[in-house]
Amino acid sequence: MIDFELTDEQKQFQNLARQFARDRIVPVAGEHDRAESYPEEVVRQGYELGLLNTIVPESVGGLGLGSLDEAVIGEELAYGCMGIYTVFMASELGITPLLLAGTPEQHERFLRPLLDGPNLAAFALSEPDNGSDAGAMKTRATFDGDDVVINGSKMWISNGDRAAFTVVFASFDPELRHKGTLAVVVEAGREGFSARKLHGKLGQRASPTAELVFDQVRVPRANILGQPGDGFKIAMRTLDKTRIPVAAGSVGVARRALDEAVGYAVERQAFGKPIARFQAIQFKLADMKIGIETARWQTYRAAWLADRGLPHGEAAAIAKAYASDMAFRAAEEAVNVHGGYGYINEYPVEKLMRDVKLNQIYEGTNEIQRLVIARSLLERRLE
Ligand SMILES: Cc1cc2nc3c(=O)[nH]c(=O)nc-3n(C[C@H](O)[C@H](O)[C@H](O)COP(=O)(O)OP(=O)(O)OC[C@H]3O[C@@H](n4cnc5c(N)ncnc54)[C@H](O)[C@@H]3O)c2cc1C
Repeated sequence: MIDFELTDEQKQFQNLARQFARDRIVPVAGEHDRAESYPEEVVRQGYELGLLNTIVPESVGGLGLGSLDEAVIGEELAYGCMGIYTVFMASELGITPLLLAGTPEQHERFLRPLLDGPNLAAFALSEPDNGSDAGAMKTRATFDGDDVVINGSKMWISNGDRAAFTVVFASFDPELRHKGTLAVVVEAGREGFSARKLHGKLGQRASPTAELVFDQVRVPRANILGQPGDGFKIAMRTLDKTRIPVAAGSVGVARRALDEAVGYAVERQAFGKPIARFQAIQFKLADMKIGIETARWQTYRAAWLADRGLPHGEAAAIAKAYASDMAFRAAEEAVNVHGGYGYINEYPVEKLMRDVKLNQIYEGTNEIQRLVIARSLLERRLE
């Protein structure tokens, strides 16, 4: 049976997140974008409302929300600001490897304290010299008694300079390529660990992005998730899940673009009538609507599969690629509808376009999503 109805609880979260985006995110989003500043107050308010780190399991005091819940909330937060939403989303990206491979003891040690305040997690896979080809990671892990010692650097890590802990992927045997990798939790403040915030991003400037450096960073072996050798698999399984919130955020940005475009089109006059009277404008709006509805259902479908523990990697890749390409197009069309006013930051649409560009790049570029989809299409045909 297919049920297109959200539960009452999901509708409550949707309303809560919608109001929060309208009242708390929209009014400050432009300023955080201009100043490249961390939205500390918004994150604190989001924490107080229960919208931060929602996937932390009930066993350690969290809400234990699932992928569909997360998608419903994510669409609303991203409607307010994709950059601010990325702070929330990247924290759940850092939590997900613990859900997939952490022991109850690791949940107690790392996830329970996360709930004590507006605390963040981070996920560090990409490096200066490799992103798509994650199996070629150069960050090294060496075993020393009961410890693991980490050396190397990670690039583009969302929340990297703010996180209470970061799940770091490192190679303990480069000859084994991805089979020689591990995932390990590194808490903030470990000696030899430093984070440098990156400046000058095109968009999502409220979301802090950092380069991380590990210089003889020593953590207990008890911080390893799963077994040494599981690192790459944990990273890929994490991304299969977390591409769903990226898709949901993209739908939120596209919805905002449509609302802004409709609002402008009915007001702006040209040739003696509102531009919304021109069929060329109406078709742009209709195409945005088609994209939003289609992308949302694919996102929900991927989330539904993930929540049932069914294979969802391909569905998530379709949702992420389709929704982010669609949202970039929608934001661009919203700029077009605004004419010259689309090109200045007095109106929010140029920011939507800059922000959502990143959705096509992070958590695997959309070329890589197409690779995932093609692999799943062809795996039995090209042996
Ligand atoms: C603001 C921001 C935040 C980010 N946050 C995080 C984070 O929190 N954690 C994290 O680990 N990473 C993060 N990333 C990194 C992001 O996931 C990578 O940038 C992305 O995976 C691409 O890797 P790359 O930049 O090394 O590009 P490359 O891998 O060098 O790719 C360059 C180009 O080549 C294409 N390409 C590469 N290989 C193939 C192939 N086999 N087939 C077809 N095309 C290919 C790519 O699609 C791309 O167009 C973030 C990035 C940014 C910009």
